[in-house]
Amino acid sequence: MGTHLSRTVAEGRAFMQLVDGRQVDALSGERIDVLSPSDGKVFASIPAAGKADVDRAVQSAARAFNEGPWSRMPAVERGRCLTRLFQLVEKHGDELAALESRDTGKPIRQGKGDVTGAMRYYEFYGGACDKIHGDTIPFLDGYTALTLREPHGVVAGIIPWNYPLQILARVVGAALAMGNTLVVKPAEDASLTTIRIAELALEAGIPAGVFNVITGYGRDAGAALSAHPLIDYVTFTGSPLTGTAIQQAAATNNRGVTMELGGKSPQIVFADADIEAALPVLVNAIIQNGGQTCSAGSRVLIEKPVYERVAAALAERFSRLVAGPHDADLDLGPLINSRQKEKVAGMVAAAEEAGIPVLARGSIHPDAPASGYYQEPVLFGSVDPAATIAQEEIFGPVLSLFPFEGEEQAIKLANGTDFGLVAGVWTKDGGRQHRVAKRVRAGQVFVNGYGAGGGIELPFGGFKKSGHGREKGFEALYDMSATKTIVFNHG
Ligand code: ADP
Repeated sequence: MGTHLSRTVAEGRAFMQLVDGRQVDALSGERIDVLSPSDGKVFASIPAAGKADVDRAVQSAARAFNEGPWSRMPAVERGRCLTRLFQLVEKHGDELAALESRDTGKPIRQGKGDVTGAMRYYEFYGGACDKIHGDTIPFLDGYTALTLREPHGVVAGIIPWNYPLQILARVVGAALAMGNTLVVKPAEDASLTTIRIAELALEAGIPAGVFNVITGYGRDAGAALSAHPLIDYVTFTGSPLTGTAIQQAAATNNRGVTMELGGKSPQIVFADADIEAALPVLVNAIIQNGGQTCSAGSRVLIEKPVYERVAAALAERFSRLVAGPHDADLDLGPLINSRQKEKVAGMVAAAEEAGIPVLARGSIHPDAPASGYYQEPVLFGSVDPAATIAQEEIFGPVLSLFPFEGEEQAIKLANGTDFGLVAGVWTKDGGRQHRVAKRVRAGQVFVNGYGAGGGIELPFGGFKKSGHGREKGFEALYDMSATKTIVFNHG
C-alpha cells in the first residue's frame, strides 16, 4: 500500500470562502467537517454558508460586473489573466492534485490527470477570449445591422463533487472569457480545490469580486444562490433531481441555465470490431473515478456472435480490479461518501436479488481502512434492458452487458433510456460508423474510442434527461453570453 504521505495534506485546516477578494468565514460561524473518503475521518473544515453569505457574494459579483473593469476589459487582457491562471495551476499542480485526491478519494494519478485537464481549460479559454465575435447582417437599404456577444452578467456555477477541478475550470474558463463575473458553490463533499483555484485567480490578476466562492450545503447555499434575483445565469452539473430544483429556482427570475445532468451511456460493440483495442477502453470508461463520472460508459451492448468472448474477457479484467485508498493509487478509490456507497451497494444487491447474473467482481484491498467508502467493481451479464440497473444512473463501478442482434436492435437499446449524454460505437465498417453515430441520441459519439470526460475542445452536453446547453469548446462561450443586435439607420 502507499506511503500515506498524502494523508497529511491540509490536515486540520479551517478553509475559508473567497468573497470580494477576501477570505471570509460564514456569517453564522457555522462549519462543515471535511472527511477523507479513504478512511471516513475528518481532516479539515469549510464554512457553511447561509442566505446572507450568498447575498454578500452575489452583491460582490454584481458590483464587480457593473463597476469593475472586467466586463469592459479588452478581450485580450481577460485572456492573459486566464493564461496566467493556467500557468499558476501548472506551477501548483502537485499540491492541487494531492488536495483533490485526499478530498474526493480519487487515486493520485487521477488527481494529476484532473490538474492537466483543468490547466487545458484555462489555457484554451485564455486563448479563445479574443477569437469570438459577432456578425454583420444584410438588412434594409440605409441600415447596418451587427451583433455583439455580451456577457450575461453574474453567473452562478454550482459544481458537483466528482471532478471539481475540471468542472470548475470549464465553468470559470468560459464564463470569465466572455466577461461575466461569478459566484461558485462547490459541493459540500469536495470544496477544497475550488477555494485554492479562486486564490490563484486573484494572484493571476483576475480582479477582486470577479470570482467569488461560497461553500455550504446544496439545500441552503445552493438553493439561495440559484434563486437570487441578481443572478443572471446558472450553470449546473449534477443529478437530474437537483437540476430540476435549480431550474425551478432560476425560473422564478426567468433566467437561463445550462444543465449537465448525467447519463446511462452505451458503448456498442459490433462483431467486426477490434475487440482487443476496445477492452481496456470499455473497462476504463466505467472504472475511471470509481464510475462517478457523468459520461461513464455504464452499458456495453455486444453483438451476439462475440458476446461470450467479450463478456469473458471483461470478466477476467474485472476480477483483477482493486479498490483502495487514494494514495495507494490502485485501479479505483473509494466512493465519495457513505450515502453514495449505500446507494450503489443497494442497487447491486437489488440486481442480484432480481436474478441478474454477476459475471465478475473486483476486490477491495485488504489494507483499505474499514471506515472508508469502498465498493468493489461488479460486472453484470445478460441484463434485462428494463431492469433498474439498465435504466438508472448508478454512479459507481458497476457495468451491465447486453447482447444484441444487428444494427437496428443496437440503436434501439442504445436509445432506450431517459438519458443521452455520450455513446461509443466499435466497428470497422465505415458506413455503419456513420449511420449509428447519427442515429444514437447522445451529445457526443465516439467511434472506435471513448472519451469519458476528456476533450476540452469538444462541445459536451446532453439530449433528453441528460440536460441542455453545451459546455466545453467554443460552444460554451455561446452559452455564457447573449447576442445583442445593434441597428444603425444611416440613410
Ligand atoms: P448529490 O445528490 O450526489 O449530492 P447533487 O446533484 O445534489 O449531487 O449535487 C451537486 C451540487 O448541487 C452540489 O454542489 C450540491 O451542493 C448542489 N445542490 C444540491 N441540492 C441543491 C439545491 N436544492 N439547490 C442548489 N444546489 C443544490
